Amino acid sequence: MLDLTGKVILVTGGSRGIGAATVRTLAGAGAQVVVHYGRGAGEARAIVEELGQARAIAVGADLSRPGAASDLFREAAAWQGRLDVLVNNAGIAPTVTVDDPPDEWADTWTRTLQVNLIAVADLCREAILHFRERGGGIIVNVASRAAFRGDNPDAMHYAASKGGVIALTRSIARGYAPENILAYAVAPGWVRTDMAGEYLREHAADIARDIPLGDVAPPEEVANTVAFLASGLARHMTGATLDINGASYVR
Ligand code: NAD
Repeated sequence: MLDLTGKVILVTGGSRGIGAATVRTLAGAGAQVVVHYGRGAGEARAIVEELGQARAIAVGADLSRPGAASDLFREAAAWQGRLDVLVNNAGIAPTVTVDDPPDEWADTWTRTLQVNLIAVADLCREAILHFRERGGGIIVNVASRAAFRGDNPDAMHYAASKGGVIALTRSIARGYAPENILAYAVAPGWVRTDMAGEYLREHAADIARDIPLGDVAPPEEVANTVAFLASGLARHMTGATLDINGASYVR
């Protein structure tokens, strides 16, 4: 069992899906967790109640709003006077294709890049500035298989945003390792959450056929991987991306 006792960790989008599973896993391993939420205030507060207020706190911020990410980091760090680990999990996956009207196309690209990449970069910036004052820290960014394999024509913006997350993570790892700031990415394929829900229901058979392991990943497997990276047990793995896709896309 990993021991995260003494670590204070911010998980964005921690109110549901992969984020909620990650919050529970990190807290179960001893960490104190800031549960960030966008719209899911009730869900986030229920998780805090479940874990206890000594173990978790809920903080809201709309990451589609430029500047909100920096405020979120500062509010999260104020809880225990520090953060040791940042987990950038919040993300959106709206659809749009070249056949849609240009304003819908532009809006979807802008929104997706803002939430999935620019807010992530803003949070990473705050984390780097914070960690360097404290002798180091760890960043774990949730990317996607789509960053490497590409995605369907209605999700090119999503794949591009996650490709950006990978490049950002690798750059941080290379640039800030001398200051003991470590950065990792995880790249899930399909994970059984609300984000994937409708698509998974409609295409269950096709998806299962495409995955040699025969099923989509449970969110707890992503959570376990994040917890391992957050533990600091694999410092020299900094810059790496861990794939969680049932061998559906082996790089
Ligand atoms: P989800 O939709 O269940 O959860 C997404 C989280 O992001 C929610 O907590 C939501 O509140 C938060 N969020 C979205 N927009 C926000 C905003 N504007 N401001 C603040 N918070 C906001 O999705 P999930 O499946 O748990 O996805 C979590 C991460 O994993 C995402 O980055 C996603 O891209 C990635 N991912 C998911 C899958 C999958 O199949 N589910 C696959 C690969 C990668």
